[in-house]
Amino acid sequence: MAYKREEEKFKVIAKERVEILFGLAKTVAGESAKEYVKSALRIAKFCNLRLGKKKALFCGQCLTFFSSENSRVRLNPDKKRTEILCLNCGHKRFYGYGMEKNTDGGDERTEGTKERMDRKKEWTERKNGQKYNNYSKS
Ligand SMILES: [Zn+2]
Repeated sequence: MAYKREEEKFKVIAKERVEILFGLAKTVAGESAKEYVKSALRIAKFCNLRLGKKKALFCGQCLTFFSSENSRVRLNPDKKRTEILCLNCGHKRFYGYGMEKNTDGGDERTEGTKERMDRKKEWTERKNGQKYNNYSKS
């Protein structure tokens, strides 16, 4: 990839394709789901994509797509993380509690920032009001 602009274009397309492939992997079971995961990872590696919470969807070692039959999910409150055990190969995957909020979709993140901005606005308005009152008193 020669130019940065082209790289960004590639990333947009690659994100779409990765999402499509994971969606397809959900619908099928067994070896064909593994193939979808493999090709999704190939695309992600090529374009330096971050998978985020999608990492919790498949096993890191044998690349099986997790379902309720081939995985076991437990919460670990001591270390504040979710642990997924692959019943195919015994490999464990961890991700922190904080991941669940942020990485599901970009929309939630923007909503959060909007709320924060509103709060900030309220605070600044209150502060300004107080200042104004003080000024008027003195
Ligand atoms: Zn595995």
